[in-house]
Amino acid sequence: MSARNLTDTECTLYGTKSCALLNMRTCEECPLKGRVADAQIHSDLKLFCDLQPEGTVAQLFESETCTLCKNEPKGATSCYAVFDMAHEEPKALARRKFLSRKSTGFMVPLQFACCRKCRSRILIEAYLPLIVPIVLAAAVLPFVTIEKLAQTVRAQAAWLPLALVAAALIGGFAIGKLLSWLYRRQNETVMFTDVREHPFVHAMEEKGWRPLFNDRKAHLAFTNKPIAKGLGSAPSSVYRMEDVEIVENSEISD
Ligand SMILES: [Zn+2]
Repeated sequence: MSARNLTDTECTLYGTKSCALLNMRTCEECPLKGRVADAQIHSDLKLFCDLQPEGTVAQLFESETCTLCKNEPKGATSCYAVFDMAHEEPKALARRKFLSRKSTGFMVPLQFACCRKCRSRILIEAYLPLIVPIVLAAAVLPFVTIEKLAQTVRAQAAWLPLALVAAALIGGFAIGKLLSWLYRRQNETVMFTDVREHPFVHAMEEKGWRPLFNDRKAHLAFTNKPIAKGLGSAPSSVYRMEDVEIVENSEISD
């Protein structure tokens, strides 16, 4: 729950849908502060609305149940998995960095409402390739550090202690990768293990959006609260506003 406190009544965006879409908490932190907002800004923001799939990006973080769970009953929302998408429109945005971190077009964070279980599944899958080698290395460490044991090992071959540690790290990474893959396979029936397979991401792609980072794995960041300001953070009620509607009392609760 956050209130907006907008005071600059001189601003040409004041009280408009465009202002509500930018969703700044105060005029002070608005990137347009001190600029003369032209018609292009309004038409860019109208385009942003037109490029929204049904339900808009707001439905993802407004959901009280997990949007990554596949089966009912879905877990209660406890955090948000953030996945950034970008659009090549509008071309003119290259000059308007405040709407976009990329050199072209819009950028929007998809904030998937996520339950505790889905979050831990994603994190366990991500960390297994790191945890397994550390555990294995810790297990062989006494054979290198405890003198009596180390002597016995060195008696076999001088290089053996080092080889043990290396094997634990390299083998552990490979085992961790395999376990991670198996764990993911097991979870695929209950959740969207890859948000890029999520129906909403497909709906975004149909509107021309693409993942901001085009890597083998989806980049996810977790937050406990929805992102408070900026494009894509406004509640779904804002998208239903008339283009010229005046926001009463300059306060919107989300
Ligand atoms: Zn879930």
